[in-house]
Amino acid sequence: MQVPAHVEYEKATSVEHALSLLVRYGPEARVLAGGHSLIPMMKLRLAQPETLIDVNGLSQLSFITEANGELRIGALTRHAQLLDSPTAGRHFAILHDAERVIADPIVRNWGTVGGSLCQADPSEDLSAAFAALKASMVIRTPDGSRTVPARDFHTGPYETVVAPAELLTEIRIAIRPGGGSAYAKVARRVGDWPVGAAGVAIWLDGGTIADAGIGLTAVGAEHFAAAEAEEFLRGRPATEASFARAGQIAAEHCRPSSDQRGPADYKRHLASELTTRALRLAMRRAQRQDTPAGTAPGRPTGTAPGRPT
Ligand SMILES: Cc1cc2nc3c(=O)[nH]c(=O)nc-3n(C[C@H](O)[C@H](O)[C@H](O)COP(=O)(O)OP(=O)(O)OC[C@H]3O[C@@H](n4cnc5c(N)ncnc54)[C@H](O)[C@@H]3O)c2cc1C
Repeated sequence: MQVPAHVEYEKATSVEHALSLLVRYGPEARVLAGGHSLIPMMKLRLAQPETLIDVNGLSQLSFITEANGELRIGALTRHAQLLDSPTAGRHFAILHDAERVIADPIVRNWGTVGGSLCQADPSEDLSAAFAALKASMVIRTPDGSRTVPARDFHTGPYETVVAPAELLTEIRIAIRPGGGSAYAKVARRVGDWPVGAAGVAIWLDGGTIADAGIGLTAVGAEHFAAAEAEEFLRGRPATEASFARAGQIAAEHCRPSSDQRGPADYKRHLASELTTRALRLAMRRAQRQDTPAGTAPGRPTGTAPGRPT
């Protein structure tokens, strides 16, 4: 039986209270959100916090709103809420694509968006989705707040820029005209972590790609992004040839490792193929010729056992 070490418990009643508790208990305290990552790690003694600061009562951190030309997502928003949000899906289909294939309903009902990002697992799906969308993370500090680009948020596997006395409170995504987005993932089985996944956001100006964001997860991409492929796409025609080349560039610049989920060369192949597929679907969505996720040719979203085709 796996039993966590002894731990003190405090229930925060407001964001300010949570921050004061984090200051009081110091670096050995940990925020408890959905607990789907933290509690298993405590059971395995991979994490041994002295105090848990439970933020589950902070309803002010659970929201999805549109304000000032941005989509704003509270850190305590559950995966299931994001999946159910028409506002999020209307502006950024990538979020629904990704949430549909994150874990299972039990994890999605309790796990939070903020917890996923702060866990900083190198295979986290939302890290790639928010990197593609060029989102910003709002972090509350004891003295105020600061905003960090998604691509600067993770400093390494299981590490973020959130300091021990700080709290991630919100994710913001600019809503820009001409945009379309999509997420494509391959996992070994339904509800599993990705073998590889790609998230894409493109903004069209007529038939030209004005801007592109490409996020990759589980394939060793720096900052969960494929910056070189994005650079290639900017100003190019939104064609199959551009998408295929961008996929190749994305694959060339990631550094997957072989593990129980698959060999490195297969993951590199996935980076290329899934980037191309997500670009194709994102373009269709940008052109308002949306195809429901999972039904487009080549199954661009959803989990497929083994190879993606
Ligand atoms: C069976 C299973 C399958 C899964 N499959 C997938 C998958 O396919 N894809 C995927 O991406 N993920 C997957 N996950 C991971 C899951 O999405 C995340 O573990 C979970 O959502 C983390 O969120 P949480 O709210 O449970 O975080 P917690 O476990 O509560 O916290 C995780 C970490 O983040 C910190 N933290 C939490 N919130 C904040 C905050 N607001 N500010 C600062 N620090 C904070 C905690 O202190 C802790 O260190 C899976 C998990 C399980 C258990």
